[in-house]
Amino acid sequence: MNDRIFLSPPHMSGKEQQYIAEVFESNYIAPLGTFVDRFEEAVCSYTGAKHALATNTATAALHLALRVLGVEEGDYILASTFTFIGSVNAILYQNAKPIFVDSDESWNLSPALLQEAIDNAPRKPKALIVTHLYGQMAKMDEIMEICRKEGICVIEDAAESLGAMLHGRQSGRFGDMGVYSFNGNKILSTSGGGMLISDNGEWIEKAKFLSTQAKEPYLHYEHKEFGYNYRLSNVLAAIGVAQMEVLSKRVSRRREIFALYQKRLGKESTVSFMPEIEGSTGNRWLTTLTFDEHDPMDVIEQLAHANIESRPLWKPMHLQPLFKHSMAVVDGTSERLYHQGLCLPSGSSMSDADVMRVCNTVSGILR
Ligand SMILES: *Cc1c(COP(=O)(O)O)cnc(C)c1O
Repeated sequence: MNDRIFLSPPHMSGKEQQYIAEVFESNYIAPLGTFVDRFEEAVCSYTGAKHALATNTATAALHLALRVLGVEEGDYILASTFTFIGSVNAILYQNAKPIFVDSDESWNLSPALLQEAIDNAPRKPKALIVTHLYGQMAKMDEIMEICRKEGICVIEDAAESLGAMLHGRQSGRFGDMGVYSFNGNKILSTSGGGMLISDNGEWIEKAKFLSTQAKEPYLHYEHKEFGYNYRLSNVLAAIGVAQMEVLSKRVSRRREIFALYQKRLGKESTVSFMPEIEGSTGNRWLTTLTFDEHDPMDVIEQLAHANIESRPLWKPMHLQPLFKHSMAVVDGTSERLYHQGLCLPSGSSMSDADVMRVCNTVSGILR
């Protein structure tokens, strides 16, 4: 039997254990320490963000973003429907109401439907959470123009898109705040971790306060509002510092893997890959494609028989039982993509031979 090819396994640089050893020497086995600071600085210097806060997950970072913006019970929050649940759970944590917006041909949020959702909202939505799906940039020029005109704050869910760019600007840097994930399956991994970025230092200070139990600045533990325990461990931040050092290599390799798939499978007339919008360079976190004539569930099953892990595309939020009563402005685009698409193994540690093995298996299934 061939070795198993995983969808997107962690890919360590080799420096992680050295940095972890430094953490142990310092004995800052805690959710603070020099590596937490260094990790935040590394993300700022790579992305150009002015301020960053390391959190234990991206989900927590999104929750902090909503708290900082003062999102409360009953508020409306616009969100991409074609995304992972972690993008929108925080809306529910705040007892706010999501309004889901469908995708366009970019697979990401449709600016036209966004405008329609704003026009038809019962009240002015407080914020938009926009996902850069599978590492490819959403149409941020159009989206920011609409949201600036309407006075709606924008939070970029860049959990999947660390290192992706539009007009040379990093994902996460277009909106008022941005969020990255370092979960086990993302382009970089600290096993679990997140980062909130913004150019607004007061917001990041406030998020830091909320992420550390909202302790007022007194020795005796005074509390005026409630917070969370959302900070990242110094041990995991050490992994993050080592991972950030190889981010551009990881983006290049994922893009190479995508190009190999496209070269080899693009010849199949019934296959289409997720596009990249003009002026952008995605990180190609996952190579995703749709079939015209084949059921992706069949393909996934047959790949599994060949010991290759693949997955369906995210099931859109407006189709989830959890959100059956939520508002949605949809035109069937993400639903169609969901029924036709799948994610291929895309880990940066894959060899070209691994990619060829997946291609040959897929080609065999399609014939
Ligand atoms: C992974 C992911 C999240 C959640 O990230 P965690 O760090 O696991 O909390 C949020 N949104 C999207 C689009 C994701 O892919």
